Amino acid sequence: MLVIKDLHAKIDDKEILRGINLEIKPGEVHAIMGPNGSGKSTLSSVLAGNEKFEVNEGSVSFNGKDLLDLAPEDRAREGLFLSFQYPVEIPGVSMVNFMRTAVNEHRKYREEEPYSASEFLKLMREKKKLVEIDSNLTNRSVNEGFSGGEKKKNEIFQMAMLEPKLAILDETDSGLDIDALRVVANGVNKLKSPERSTIVITHYQRLLDHIVPDYVHVLYKGRIVKSAGKELALELEEKGYDWIKKEFED
Ligand code: ADP
Ligand code: MG
Ligand code: MG
Repeated sequence: MLVIKDLHAKIDDKEILRGINLEIKPGEVHAIMGPNGSGKSTLSSVLAGNEKFEVNEGSVSFNGKDLLDLAPEDRAREGLFLSFQYPVEIPGVSMVNFMRTAVNEHRKYREEEPYSASEFLKLMREKKKLVEIDSNLTNRSVNEGFSGGEKKKNEIFQMAMLEPKLAILDETDSGLDIDALRVVANGVNKLKSPERSTIVITHYQRLLDHIVPDYVHVLYKGRIVKSAGKELALELEEKGYDWIKKEFED
């Protein structure tokens, strides 16, 4: 589904990604961990098509297409979903209208008929129930005045509505209380399917208690320096990153 080969990216001539290799198959959950400033958010931004970053080497294939060749909105329409570490607020645009436009644009891209208002509302009700989102959140402006937890829950709702093939959740757990964490994790788990893959970027083992990864990778100084199964997250929680840094420097 996703094959990243020797990906290098820079900003203002500063190289941040320095040769990322990663392969994700349908249905897999991969966790990416690593110290602050390692390049985790940069990797998600580059995959999403953020033009601040310049890709100067390497390739990314997504469903057999050259991802780097696609405009950001086409990446989304191809089924890439990125949950931002800091979600934006869009005053004056209600969640309902925002989501209806997004969902119908995706359908148009797949040459499917747009949903009518009633079909859309039905879908929205189903998905809200699935991810346990309060009904009044969707009547408000996108993220405006939402608490940290509400923004994150809202992102999971957006993900449920768009049914992406690959979802990248960048620190979706930061600032969440235990309850919101559970809602987010449950939402992700309920959306799991043999065709859908997830990349979870996180600092904390606690999220991975709920969203159990097939693989855990450590990103350090712009490279994946270690990959293993879910036990690696426990080991990192216990021992921190110093041993990995030392292994890498050696
Ligand atoms: P992580 O998500 O792993 O904490 P980031 O990808 O946010 O790391 O950052 C990796 C490095 O890239 C850091 O040194 C950071 O300062 C730098 N960086 C990220 N975004 C920018 C930017 N817009 N301008 C300059 N440097 C940036
Ligand atoms: Mg960071
Ligand atoms: Mg980050």
